[in-house]
Amino acid sequence: KICLAEGTDLSIVARGTPGCSGADLANIVNEAALIASRQDKPAVDLDDLEEARDKILWGKERRSHVIDEEQQKLTAYHEAGHAILSVLEPDADPLHKITIIPRGMALGLTAFLPKKDRVSLSRKHLLAQLVVSMGGRVAEELFLPDICTGARQDIKQATQIAHSMVCEWGMSEKLGPRAFGKNEELVFLGREVNRTQDYSNRTAERIDDEVDALLRNAYERAHRLLDEHRDAVELLVKELLARETVSGEDAVDIVRYGRIRTSAERGDAPPPAPPPAPDVPVADPASPPPAETPSDSP
Ligand code: ZN
Repeated sequence: KICLAEGTDLSIVARGTPGCSGADLANIVNEAALIASRQDKPAVDLDDLEEARDKILWGKERRSHVIDEEQQKLTAYHEAGHAILSVLEPDADPLHKITIIPRGMALGLTAFLPKKDRVSLSRKHLLAQLVVSMGGRVAEELFLPDICTGARQDIKQATQIAHSMVCEWGMSEKLGPRAFGKNEELVFLGREVNRTQDYSNRTAERIDDEVDALLRNAYERAHRLLDEHRDAVELLVKELLARETVSGEDAVDIVRYGRIRTSAERGDAPPPAPPPAPDVPVADPASPPPAETPSDSP
């Protein structure tokens, strides 16, 4: 029922909304229509759909929120850390855009466009995700005089992934394909209420060690990669401070070409060479990672 501008590529919207229900999508389309009509546009275009998606998934832009220069710089380095690592990690999701415009609870955002709905997660992808999630904190450490609380969510998420890899998905070679801990879940509450320990204290220590190793390896790899690509981080930060939002394409150019190419160059140039294949940061490098891990978890 809503008029769509000619040439709007809905596949971009589709890739940017993995896991959204039909109702969520309807919500986004309605919001996009409101945004377009507020600007007296005759039809809804990709910008309106993007803005609507960001607003519904992450909250309203807080442009009125006064942010001092120092905070903006901190956010720019933090987000650039995530973004540059996602370009360098071949198994990470493709980068969509990076922004330092505060939205909802977030001061900045690095968004990805997964190529397909992920119904199962491969081990390589999870390891790449761990490295990318460390990028914010590592960039603060490498480029700024002090670290801050902004990485709270990243660290929490990385810890959950590493814990699930070891305890639920049998992805640790040392501990093998066993599930640790019985969850008594109240499904209707949608959260874990009780985790009973169904293993020995000795195993508990080994679980701790494995989770630690996964996180520490990801952190060290993130540190090494960002240290090796300092120029790329600096350039991306400069662009973010000047423009507030930088596309994933521009960030890829910064890493691969050391600058942002013109659109003419992009049209003519051969596809850029993939970044050198990195060694996989795993606690147990001897084990062959499974291509896809069957998983019943979301
Ligand atoms: Zn972050």
